[in-house]
Amino acid sequence: MIKYKLKCKKCKLSFDSWFASSQEYEKLKKKNYLNCHNCGSITIEKTLMAPKLLKKNWKENVSIKNNKYKKINEKIREYQRFIKNNFKYVGNNFAYEARSIHYKSKKNTKGIYGTASKEEIKDLKDEGIETEIIPWIEDKNN
Ligand SMILES: [Zn+2]
Repeated sequence: MIKYKLKCKKCKLSFDSWFASSQEYEKLKKKNYLNCHNCGSITIEKTLMAPKLLKKNWKENVSIKNNKYKKINEKIREYQRFIKNNFKYVGNNFAYEARSIHYKSKKNTKGIYGTASKEEIKDLKDEGIETEIIPWIEDKNN
């Protein structure tokens, strides 16, 4: 069932009407079966759909957004698992550790990860030390 707000062009009366489908509405309209309750005119036009239907669509959009967010979260967690397994955690010493690796040019050093401020990252970049910044989700279990 679909609810349309109809409007009579002649007397400007608006009224709601239910139809089995939008195709049914078109069919009845074509056959001039739709007429105004007030003046009997067949110059009826469809206006805005009932707010009930619009509200439902809006809710669906929100849940699509939530799904996308969920997928991004899963991707980030995947990265985090990879990093935790392959890199050494240095916490707040990230900038210091990154420099010591860079300047001592240690070979076969395990990669590191940790936290650094925006300024520290900018300084590292100025010194030619490339860093990757990834969003990090704190694990609630830890
Ligand atoms: Zn009318």
